[in-house]
Amino acid sequence: MIKQIETNQLRLRGEIARMIAEVPLYAGRDLPGEDLAAWLLTQPLIGKRELRRGFPKSLLRAGQDLNSSMEDGTITLLATSGTTSDRLQVIWEWTWWDPQEREAMRLNARVAEAMLRPGYHEAVLTTPACGAGACHLGDQSMQERTIDGMLFFNQSPDPSYWSERESARMIEEWNTFAPVGIEADPAYLAMLCRAARQQQRTLSSPAFITLTYETTTRAMRQEISRTLDAPVYQLYGATEAGVLFMECEKGMLHMNAQHAHIELLPVGEGLARVVVTTLGREWMPLLRYDIGDIVRVANIAECACGRPANGALVQRMEGRASDCVARGNELITPLMLDDAMMERAPQMFQWQLSGDTLSVVGPGARDAAVAASELLGRAVRGETVAAIAPEASGKYRLVRNAS
Ligand SMILES: [Zn+2]
Repeated sequence: MIKQIETNQLRLRGEIARMIAEVPLYAGRDLPGEDLAAWLLTQPLIGKRELRRGFPKSLLRAGQDLNSSMEDGTITLLATSGTTSDRLQVIWEWTWWDPQEREAMRLNARVAEAMLRPGYHEAVLTTPACGAGACHLGDQSMQERTIDGMLFFNQSPDPSYWSERESARMIEEWNTFAPVGIEADPAYLAMLCRAARQQQRTLSSPAFITLTYETTTRAMRQEISRTLDAPVYQLYGATEAGVLFMECEKGMLHMNAQHAHIELLPVGEGLARVVVTTLGREWMPLLRYDIGDIVRVANIAECACGRPANGALVQRMEGRASDCVARGNELITPLMLDDAMMERAPQMFQWQLSGDTLSVVGPGARDAAVAASELLGRAVRGETVAAIAPEASGKYRLVRNAS
């Protein structure tokens, strides 16, 4: 164990030194001192703004030729969809992304077992614009939406407005393809599950479901587990940073420690910001990148699954830092709000707090608003709405703070 930690430290130190020597964004920094953890804390955090500024030049290592590597297919330039302030260009390195994602998934014993089955195949349900480098908007055949054996179901941007025909198509494809693994945006999967129940259709149960792309509310989880008889796990990552955590079969999020050095910077009450230094990445290596999310750190040092913790264990993803609300010195995360509101209004299907207005799809707007008011210490007005619009990225925003 101690040997492993030493090896990891040595590797991290070496990779950081190379980043400083080769990548303009980190040029001129002092090399790490004796105490690596202490040195890291002295280094500035970078965020989306730094990645955007001078892209791609400031992120290229000395000697890297972007154009020829794009031509030979080593890398792809990918733009994450989103509002102007969210949008980000990413140098997508296939030979880094795939192994680190697979390895993260294998941190869960049930997922690892399923992935070894002969004929293992996966399907993805998310925004049509969000698959790795591929866009599935419009009207494409199943074959056109299958990449490396992976089927992408969705091809329209706002799942609240999937027609009955559209949902029926996806449900039929799901049952025909019968995926062993499903990777899904929880909001989209909850909507498809709801459509299946409304149409009195069933969805074949995969061996596992990984939820990723956005924060999972209790209502989403309820809807999914009511419809599908499969274990559901969180896989947490970002296009620009890789997969950082995977939920194990005992419900704890483990760090993907072979591919990322993750710092959890405490922000009080067991909550922490996630800061990542990537490992093993030739293109666009990140040094102390603040991913902009808040997690709840587990108060146990060892997990019941028996896998080494490799740093702190995380209990759950709490939501984006920019969607948290300050109450005095306390930070109220989107999922803390969700907990409080679901206690009072367990029939809610979807919600969004915008300033002091709480929009709710499904019953319980008034009760949920009372719960939100109590937690936030300010008046929140509840209203029932037919649908909540996703952001330009296709993801849902749980809280929009008044700016
Ligand atoms: Zn575990």
